[in-house]
Amino acid sequence: MRNNNDKYLTLLEQIRWGAKPKCPYCESTNATPYKGERRYHCNTCYTSYSISVGTLFHKTHVSLEKWFLAIRLILNSPEGISVRKLAKEVGVNKNTACYMIERVYKAASEEQELIQKLVNIHRFN
Ligand SMILES: [Zn+2]
Repeated sequence: MRNNNDKYLTLLEQIRWGAKPKCPYCESTNATPYKGERRYHCNTCYTSYSISVGTLFHKTHVSLEKWFLAIRLILNSPEGISVRKLAKEVGVNKNTACYMIERVYKAASEEQELIQKLVNIHRFN
């Protein structure tokens, strides 16, 4: 499970950062990775961060794999997807599905660039 999530973390890092981690607080790319963790220490403002800080994926218990699938399902349903259907397809309970729908719509306007890239990546996979 962890390795699988790593794969999606790598994908997300590539989409959002390209080659170098970028601090979400001061935008510096002068960072040192923590050993064995997907976290980075910013050498400019001395905070630590991961790729999910400042995105819809921050502080959720839902795996990135499920999020990516949900984003595609939600944004490729022009008439909107039902909570029941999303819950079934992604494999989460209805409360979580409801939260994901809200969050994805919010992100589609607030984090447009990231969401757009995630949707496009799925078209080619
Ligand atoms: Zn910083």
